[in-house]
Amino acid sequence: MFKGRLWRFLILFLTIYIISFLYFLHSFNSNTDKTTTTSPLPHFNEKDVDSNQQQKNKISDQIIIPNIENSLSNLEPVMTKGILGNYEPKNIVKLSDPGENGEGVQLQGEEEKKLGDKSVAEYGFNEVASEKISLDRHARDTRPEECKYWNYPSVDKLPTASVILVFYDEGWSTLVRTFHSVINTSPKELLKDIILVDDFSDEEHITVRLPEYIKQWKGLVKYVRTKQRVGLVEARVVGARAAQGDVIVILDAHCECVTNWLPPLLTRIALNRKTLAVPIVDGIEWNTLRHNSAYFGGTLFRGIWEWGFLYKETEIPGRERSKMKYNTEPYKSPTHAGGLLAIDKKWFFELGAYDPGIKIWGGEQYELSFKVWMCGGQLEWVTCSHVGHIYRGPRQRSMHPKGASFYQSHINHLRVAEIWMDEYKVYYLRRRPNHAQLDMGDTSEYKALRQRLNCKSFKWFLDNVAYEMAEKYPLPPANLVWGEMRNEQYNDICADTLGNQYGRSVGVSGCHGQGGNQLFRLNTEGEWSVDEHCYVADRNSVVARHCVQMGRWIPKGEWTYNNETRQIRSTKVNQCVATDSKILVLEACQNNNRAQKWTWKETYIV
Ligand code: UDP
Ligand code: MN
Repeated sequence: MFKGRLWRFLILFLTIYIISFLYFLHSFNSNTDKTTTTSPLPHFNEKDVDSNQQQKNKISDQIIIPNIENSLSNLEPVMTKGILGNYEPKNIVKLSDPGENGEGVQLQGEEEKKLGDKSVAEYGFNEVASEKISLDRHARDTRPEECKYWNYPSVDKLPTASVILVFYDEGWSTLVRTFHSVINTSPKELLKDIILVDDFSDEEHITVRLPEYIKQWKGLVKYVRTKQRVGLVEARVVGARAAQGDVIVILDAHCECVTNWLPPLLTRIALNRKTLAVPIVDGIEWNTLRHNSAYFGGTLFRGIWEWGFLYKETEIPGRERSKMKYNTEPYKSPTHAGGLLAIDKKWFFELGAYDPGIKIWGGEQYELSFKVWMCGGQLEWVTCSHVGHIYRGPRQRSMHPKGASFYQSHINHLRVAEIWMDEYKVYYLRRRPNHAQLDMGDTSEYKALRQRLNCKSFKWFLDNVAYEMAEKYPLPPANLVWGEMRNEQYNDICADTLGNQYGRSVGVSGCHGQGGNQLFRLNTEGEWSVDEHCYVADRNSVVARHCVQMGRWIPKGEWTYNNETRQIRSTKVNQCVATDSKILVLEACQNNNRAQKWTWKETYIV
């Protein structure tokens, strides 16, 4: 079949394609000339004509035909495998300074280590080590190799960004490196401004030194201070109001951006302004500032939650994977970790920004994710946009704002459940029954907003977006009994996890009425649990396991509670839970043995 005319036709066709592709690259390059794609770190050599020429020569050899017309008209990124994408910096000079390329730094000598430890107690990371690292270091390029070959719409076709950093008493160098890295890695045409929102910090390096320091950027970097400590949620909204860009990009104040992190995020929003675009969050070690890749081995993850609102990540379902042509394409996710995101400013405010009843910290990522999805938008994880974040180590200083409720994050969760989860709110309360009496304030305004925006139901969200929840975190069965478990034989002795986690046994201690380690639940399906752990009989003790096994949670357990005899029995080993007031054991069931009798007392936090 493939003879004569058809061959000639194919060659002609290919030639036309190659010529039009060269023209396309030329337009990208000329665009690069007037609008530097990567703003100048001293180590970037951005206008290397020879290498441009080489690139073009290479292109005619190795072209993988992209659908160019399409890309220009509908803003879809184009993959040119083997040829660097249009926003990739050319010739990055490798430096050997401490910490360069995301390497870690070790402190030397006792004196220095002591100072380092002190800074860890203060900030949750080693500010002394951080100060040894250039404020302009290159982050490690943690992206999959393929990311370098994507081409994104030119700067004039992308929305501009305002990067918002909110902070309360952060270390100097980690904070300053965050916005240095934003400036160094963002095309300057796309970076409208950087808004530093000081959440009423106490430290002078923030209140005095910082406003002075940023003057060198002549208005690009702005400083706003709240009138009192408002917490990160409200501080972000303060920043969003001050932002002049089309898109607000929120980062924690201890981040480092990886090469070419911004255009992939903005492209998602250019394609659909109702997209909440989330970068991949790499870890930066708190003690050495070493920057590590978030995930290994090419597995893609997305964000979900368990019914008590602990954030979880899970491998993307096959249904999503099969829609992707490349492993490096963005994909949909029900939610995200919360700290780092990009969203169209107008869309954010159309959605009511963050619910003002959600205060200080916690739950805001669910609120934003649920409403984005339910009210007509979508949330995507952008595989080729990587940002490093310092996960804090053991910080001793309390961050709790004076006068705020110690249960504020629970109150926030309860509001999310009340406003967005419809009939599914009950599952949150089954998982956290002691939250039912928390005062979550007035929710009518936000419920009215949901009505006004004509948002879909939570059931729709579970069925169509977070559909793996049914398998990963199935709906918790009703609790048969819950609360503090008091032993009848011994005065004021309660079952207590003693803070033990996975694999450790349950013990006993004096009843304290505070919930926490003494807050047990036993449900109609025989599952006996504390927090997210489920308990199983193991010889003569009771041991904590994750409820999820082999990636699947089967909410069925081995336990029964008999209201009359007040015994807790394992149907697996046919033994009952007892105590000698020092440890918790399993032994042969005896109906009249008072050491085997437990009464449950529901304890609420308020
Ligand atoms: N933050 C703030 N006000 C607060 C608490 C936190 O502005 O009352 C800032 C904090 O400085 C950081 C961001 O909010 O830049 C996120 O907080 P954090 O890093 O402590 O949260 P994590 O990443 O540990 O979850
Ligand atoms: Mn953080």
